[in-house]
Amino acid sequence: MISAALSRIAASRTTAMTDRAIALREGGADIISLSVGEPDFATPPHVIAAAKSALDAGDTKYTAVGGTARLKNAAALHFARDLGLDVPANQITVSAGGKQAIFHALLATLNPGDEVLIPAPWWVSYPEITRFAGGVVVPIATTAAGGFRITAAQLEAAITPRTRWLLLNSPGNPTGATYSAEDLLALGAVLARHPDVLVLSDDIYAPLRYTPGAHATLAVVCPDLADRVLTVSGVSKSHAMTGFRIGVAAGPAWLIAAMERLQSHSSGNPSSISQAAAVAAFEGPQAFLAEWRERFRNRRDSVVAAINAIPGLSAPLPDGAFYCMVDAAPLMHRFGAWGSNQDGDEALALHLLEAGVAVVAASAFGGADGFRISFAADEAKLTEALRRIAKAI
Ligand code: GLU
Repeated sequence: MISAALSRIAASRTTAMTDRAIALREGGADIISLSVGEPDFATPPHVIAAAKSALDAGDTKYTAVGGTARLKNAAALHFARDLGLDVPANQITVSAGGKQAIFHALLATLNPGDEVLIPAPWWVSYPEITRFAGGVVVPIATTAAGGFRITAAQLEAAITPRTRWLLLNSPGNPTGATYSAEDLLALGAVLARHPDVLVLSDDIYAPLRYTPGAHATLAVVCPDLADRVLTVSGVSKSHAMTGFRIGVAAGPAWLIAAMERLQSHSSGNPSSISQAAAVAAFEGPQAFLAEWRERFRNRRDSVVAAINAIPGLSAPLPDGAFYCMVDAAPLMHRFGAWGSNQDGDEALALHLLEAGVAVVAASAFGGADGFRISFAADEAKLTEALRRIAKAI
């Protein structure tokens, strides 16, 4: 018998679809996977070299639970250089991916019935982690017309005496929603009136923005709130290091200590070899990122144009990250649903899988009547995938 906590959650639908695509491929099927958010680029050579040197140097033992001093210092450099966030190394912790940092932060702070505000569409794991930790998911609906961003008025209306966290993700998965400094100032003014609300700022996609201007993050834009903001980042998306499993989080000392207390009993320290690689990622050359960003921008433009050329499908241009949310509402009657019937968009995703393209149904993200495409795949695969989608539709 599984526990009550586990029975409240389902397996990740992004990873489930990806596992399915891999299994079909291993069985000989020709499947292009646009389901997982993972850059197709090779991990930079200086990062690989650092991992190899760590192995050769016998860097294969336990480290401090929350990461080596070397990596915490490198992460402090990253937060300052890339996010404009000055934070001492003792207010930083390292975990096995950003996902684990978020998991530990929520598990360490939520009591049964505590409410967590999550802008929808959301990344699949936010609501599941919340429910596992005993929290109550309070969705805040966003629209394509509003850039998939919540407004200050929506935030004010959603906060209750039970609100414990607001989860912000900018640039966001799955919509690319990107908050400007002005947007964050408006949200910050509301949060200032509610001192018990903590904010998770998931900035993992910060290096992948396609709009002009600097990245804006809440702890910098509203320094008065910094003592209740946990800013999460990592190397997975920016340095194509998904398999290394390294995430970093910066926040108030009490929260960092609480997360490390929990981590001391869950995974212990993140992999020593991956930590050495992440030091190289943060401290080494960053110039390759400009080229990757351009590649992603071009892919974004051609994927969105190809989607909008298919009758019945539409997608707005995302401002960041490497996903686009495709609206298929005009076609849903063919897939057994109108409105927000979750079976409909799952049926559509399965139809596309049969046509040789793995995508993730919008309902996995608290959306409806559509699907998410990850354009972190090479150009030839994207072209062929879009041809298959057009034919299948
Ligand atoms: N964050 C990526 C995605 O949304 C990786 C898979 C996952 O952890 O959900 O596809």
